[in-house]
Amino acid sequence: MGPETLEAKQKAAIEEILKAYPQKAAKNREKHLGVGSPNDENQKTCGDVRSNKKTVPGVMSQRGCAYAGSKGVVWGPVKDMIHISHGPIGCGQYSRAGRRNYYIGVTGVDTFVTMNFSTDFQENNIVFGGDKKLGIAIDEINNLFPLNNGITVQSECPIGLIGDDIGAVAKVKAKELDKTIVPVNCEGFRGVSQSLGHHIANDTVRDYVFDAKVNVNTSDVETTEYDVAIIGDYNIGGDAWSSRILLEEMGLRVVA
Ligand code: SF4
Repeated sequence: MGPETLEAKQKAAIEEILKAYPQKAAKNREKHLGVGSPNDENQKTCGDVRSNKKTVPGVMSQRGCAYAGSKGVVWGPVKDMIHISHGPIGCGQYSRAGRRNYYIGVTGVDTFVTMNFSTDFQENNIVFGGDKKLGIAIDEINNLFPLNNGITVQSECPIGLIGDDIGAVAKVKAKELDKTIVPVNCEGFRGVSQSLGHHIANDTVRDYVFDAKVNVNTSDVETTEYDVAIIGDYNIGGDAWSSRILLEEMGLRVVA
């Protein structure tokens, strides 16, 4: 099959998909679909296909909010830290265990991926602020789970609206507890979709985790010439679970 034929077939497939939509939705979705080719200049700059646009509820492109992008995608797989959903319980519950993460350890002891931590805001916290509650939650968590390697504070929408200073609380607590405490201002309304949450969270990894003191002892790990670390696998459908098996069948050892 020549490349022209393939392109024509791909274009026809897009037309077929668009036919399934109501007229208004099809007009909107049309801008998000296109056939790429190595010679297409637009593809190199994402100039042709529309992205980073506001999510439309009920339309296939629907994604999470900035908070979901930070908590679920970037910080979610960081298993030895505890991630507090700061604000009302709904956001934390909504994002709970939504990601498939590949982790080892004992849940609740040295790994916390599937647990749901929330400051559970009530009306009075919205009126009078929740900084105090956040400080108490951090203390409580640190007492109950002493093997945590740090705590992140994932801001939900109301935090940004009422102006709680999570950065100040994190700074005080980090000093008091001698721990890595990361304030993440990833309120859902900040971006058009979860993608801004990814950027915000990645910035906090750079600013708070690199060079931070962590209790990981790697000196007793014996390395081999066949070790590989997979970086940046989104594992959206559990695909990392399969790629690990393939790499191991090739004779490689997936260490991270
Ligand atoms: S948009 Fe705001 S309120 Fe909704 S889940 Fe995200 S952080 Fe929570």
